[in-house]
Amino acid sequence: MTSTRNSLEDVWGPRTPYRGQWPERSDSSAEANVDTWIPSACVLCSNGCGVEIGVKDGTIVGVRGRADDRVNRGRLGPKGLYGWKANASPDRLTRPLIQTEGRFREASWDEAMELIVQKSQEVRRHYTAGAIGFYTSGQLFLEEYYTLGVIGKAGLGTPHMDGNTRLCTATSSAALKESFGCDGQPGSYSDIDTTDALFNFGHNVAEQQTVLWMRMLDRLSGPNPPKLVVVDPRPVPAALKADVHLSIKPGTNVAIMNGLLHLLIKHDWLDHQYLSAHTVGFEQLEKTVKAWTPERTARLADVPENKIRDAAEILGTAPTLVSTVLQGVYQSMQATAAACQVNNLHLLRGLLGREGCGIYQMNGQPTAQNTRECGADGDLPGFRNWDNPSHIADLARLWNVEPNIIPHWAPPTHAMQIFRYCEQGIIKLLWISGTNPAVSLPDLRRIRRIFNQKDLFVVVQDAFMTETAARADVILPAAIWGEKTGCCTNVDRTVHLSQKAIEPPGEARADLDIFLDYAERMNFRDKDGQPLVKWRTPEEAFEAWKACSKGRPCDYSGMTYERLSTRSGIQWPCTIENPDGTSHLYTDGHFPSDAEYCETYGHDFDTGAVATPERYRAHDPQGRAVLKASNYLPPFEEPDEQFPFWLTTGRIVYQFHTRTKTGRVEELQSKAPEPFVEISNQDAADYGIADGEMMEVRSRRGYVQVPARITGIRPGVLFIPFHYGYWDENSHPRAANELTLVEWDPVSKQPHFKCAAVRIGKPGTSGLVPKLVKTIVRKTLE
Ligand code: SF4
Repeated sequence: MTSTRNSLEDVWGPRTPYRGQWPERSDSSAEANVDTWIPSACVLCSNGCGVEIGVKDGTIVGVRGRADDRVNRGRLGPKGLYGWKANASPDRLTRPLIQTEGRFREASWDEAMELIVQKSQEVRRHYTAGAIGFYTSGQLFLEEYYTLGVIGKAGLGTPHMDGNTRLCTATSSAALKESFGCDGQPGSYSDIDTTDALFNFGHNVAEQQTVLWMRMLDRLSGPNPPKLVVVDPRPVPAALKADVHLSIKPGTNVAIMNGLLHLLIKHDWLDHQYLSAHTVGFEQLEKTVKAWTPERTARLADVPENKIRDAAEILGTAPTLVSTVLQGVYQSMQATAAACQVNNLHLLRGLLGREGCGIYQMNGQPTAQNTRECGADGDLPGFRNWDNPSHIADLARLWNVEPNIIPHWAPPTHAMQIFRYCEQGIIKLLWISGTNPAVSLPDLRRIRRIFNQKDLFVVVQDAFMTETAARADVILPAAIWGEKTGCCTNVDRTVHLSQKAIEPPGEARADLDIFLDYAERMNFRDKDGQPLVKWRTPEEAFEAWKACSKGRPCDYSGMTYERLSTRSGIQWPCTIENPDGTSHLYTDGHFPSDAEYCETYGHDFDTGAVATPERYRAHDPQGRAVLKASNYLPPFEEPDEQFPFWLTTGRIVYQFHTRTKTGRVEELQSKAPEPFVEISNQDAADYGIADGEMMEVRSRRGYVQVPARITGIRPGVLFIPFHYGYWDENSHPRAANELTLVEWDPVSKQPHFKCAAVRIGKPGTSGLVPKLVKTIVRKTLE
């Protein structure tokens, strides 16, 4: 079936019920007669849908879904169908820019790169490479991340590398490592087609991974639909379809999971054989959740007790189960601890490693998986363990460098700490690629202050003049999707090759070419005096990555550009012996948790303290999964009399990240032109707020002015989408991160975007205190 529906109005399209095979449906937005179709994958969320780019006369004129693709069977959501229009935006950056005395001037590539090299040498000479930091993205390609990882770790030897994946999927990685010993999603999207139950926990799948939700909707509309349990304080689209919707109080994720696991154990909904053969830690988990009776859980999470029992029965008795977890968990209190309880649910029931059973500790951004795999986020490439000397020796051999240049004396520096080091003057040069921290990091007033520091030299590599680029010393114009070649790996480990379809505008260059240029100018060498970075093309970089990944869980050694060109998506691990890839991990119940092989020795969930190798070896799980328990801890900041509302921030269907691309696509921007504050019917009535009325939302850190949107959100909770900054509208504060707080999960270091206390008022009133002076507030608002 070919579909040219209006996906802006009809986001998920017509139903094609699942009856033994997910039917194909090729969605298209091609505008003109296409000369050539170029194979690619959509890079506007972690679903990684297979697409073809339609090219006419050297420009992109549309896309269509790949009907043979294992991820989407031809379907595309609104961002996938229209996002390509940003490529032709008239305000693309086309020449390097250098800022002097507050003004940008155009420069040649030679001049810009020489300035960066001169600064790098100067900083390294005076302060060591520990004064250089890199902050990258979840939107570059695998080949670019790997090259950046080698430059940072073996060229400069700086531990200060991270991606904006810290804000998005750091908890996914941390939870997988803590439970299974290593990053990597165990399941396969085909699980959706056969599973008996779906569990969405803090994952607004309908708006974030629209095509994944289409797949779920097609199961729900076919014969034998799965049961659906949703945990979310908002009435997200999936909640409206759910058998059980638990609209919990923010910050209570661990409590609700402990309550559910309590009932599983109480009713003996357990796979005892699996537990004893393939896990450790059951006794501690049983002891921890014992106190979480339905009564206590219901009181704390503020949801009806009978709904907890209903949810537990579905999760405890379904023969197969697919769970998906995202920002409602990752950006909230006790992120890793809560995400691990979902892993525990599957381990308790032995629902892993077979068709219909999958855990998706979801990724947000399209290539976040590659940031993690390739070492661009501070982790070592190939899921190696920084605390294991044999893993360091392994990398040193591969790169032909001394082991000591590879940072491994302490955990890698996470993004929140990188910005703290910038604030303290410890990092002197910060190189930002493909991301926009001046909108996406918490407490933006502080972030702006950091960028304004005189002795911080900032390089920004981007396609547009973002809010961050505007604060840079040097801007390097970057090519984007469609203008360069490279691989991306989606959340179910499917690798796609995206081919270059058109030339980038002006002098813009692929991120890979920029990193290679830097490596050459810096003259990074290996032990034999040969160039450290030995590749020049994306395909050569991919071959180098294959060698690095070989023998590790994310083994790509059986893939080639040629094989990736002839079929639409291959799941790692993929070896010469297993060239078609692997649908499910842990099919034999063996996990990568052996002390010599694992990616981490684990953490204390409450403090984040790193477990020592000695301690881990003393209790080596030797290939078994670890059931890690956690007790509930209250949030750092909770509503009080001064700030009586919870604020959660998040995403909406038509925009991606800080709108750098989607905000420039008229079709998408016109559907979601401005931020808003979602407020419950009850709160709106209590405070006399009309739909669309301009409100001021204020926290201890700042304020925004945004119109009210009245919905069925949980009373006492407000929601503001985080996409909006100031590049296209700067007449009033409106970025949600003006309000958020600088606190993070102790294990994954992911910031708490979902837990801030705020108050509301009319613009210019500095916010009022509704609980204490409710009648005055109502009068004032009137
Ligand atoms: S679901 Fe994600 S990957 Fe697929 S078309 Fe939409 S934005 Fe692109």
